[in-house]
Amino acid sequence: MTGERLGSFGPGATAVTGIAELVTNDPAAGEGPLGLVRDAALVVDGGQVVWVGPTARCPAADTAIAVDGAAVLPGFVDSHAHLAFAGDRAAEFAARMAGEPYAAGGIQDTVARTRAADDDVLRANLGRLAAELRRSGTTTFEVKSGYGLTVADEERSLRLAREATPETTFLGAHVVAPEYADDPAGYVDLVTGPMLAACAPHARWVDVFCDRGAFDADQARAVLAAGAARGLMPRVHANQLQHGDGIRVAVEAGAASADHCTFTTEADLELLSGSRTVATLLPGAEFSTRAPYPDGRRMLDAGVTVALATDCNPGSSYTTSMPFCIAVAVREMGLTPAEAVWAATAGGAAALRRDDVGRLAVGARADVVVLDAPSHVHLSYRPGVDLVARVLEAG
Ligand SMILES: [Zn+2]
Repeated sequence: MTGERLGSFGPGATAVTGIAELVTNDPAAGEGPLGLVRDAALVVDGGQVVWVGPTARCPAADTAIAVDGAAVLPGFVDSHAHLAFAGDRAAEFAARMAGEPYAAGGIQDTVARTRAADDDVLRANLGRLAAELRRSGTTTFEVKSGYGLTVADEERSLRLAREATPETTFLGAHVVAPEYADDPAGYVDLVTGPMLAACAPHARWVDVFCDRGAFDADQARAVLAAGAARGLMPRVHANQLQHGDGIRVAVEAGAASADHCTFTTEADLELLSGSRTVATLLPGAEFSTRAPYPDGRRMLDAGVTVALATDCNPGSSYTTSMPFCIAVAVREMGLTPAEAVWAATAGGAAALRRDDVGRLAVGARADVVVLDAPSHVHLSYRPGVDLVARVLEAG
């Protein structure tokens, strides 16, 4: 609420003043779905937003940061990233841009390199990518396993991911491990048995790639059910490569998110709009595989909740930039600039079932991005330009 105050400010309180346009994502606080407040200020204390309102009424705080003329928005929430891996696949990308098609099997290259890497290499790569995310304004991010595909390598991927984020996802069911190429059912037994048992203590979520070349609907259901029995909440890689059962499986399992949703039917959209399952669109993947983009406009018009995420991974989307994803979603998926910013902040938070991030209202985490621009529109209007001037993480 505008002008609302949470207790008294501690000695470490910081006021951010002179904000030309504040995106609160709190419709009660300002204009439109983004809850825009002009000539705004906010006060953060103890890692939380404790006051939001007009600069003219901003209470005194120990530290003041004047950002005159800047737009300020909540830190981006990247709800889909694969950061636990070694090596890159630049040559595969170049070959694809020269005409070779994308296939899920390329994942096996990264599996071999990840298994061969020691913990320090994986930790350094995770740290480098996490730093890239933060520099481009992302303050909450998810990390999946899925490039180990053995009990030990999946367990350590998640253990290292946990050092970087609480939003960790067990994706042993990314593709069938090479040792099980002739026995996919045996691999599903491994994933739902000993691998899950080793990984569950380090994970919040369970995910499965339900698509051509990966896992079918029954296998996906088995993986999600086993994860749920261990207390992991479901999310699904769905309908990236072709029409299929991924979205249905996700909605039936009560998944927080169905990710990709590149190929959807009217029935898929009805399932999504009638559920709490968010459609997480990953424009970097279509960009980097020259695939057709999902019709985000059609989803929004059907009442589906849409999130944007990077899908950062070395094969099909090697970007950490949420501003890039926003720009592509506006240009290629039919989102308005405001819808894309909402999807990259509040939408990502919904896809992670979080209500403490993705908004800047009293009581929310003080994850604050200051743009070198007067409006959120510039994120898509000025593609490829680094507009993130400053990032405050939990104050
Ligand atoms: Zn993915």
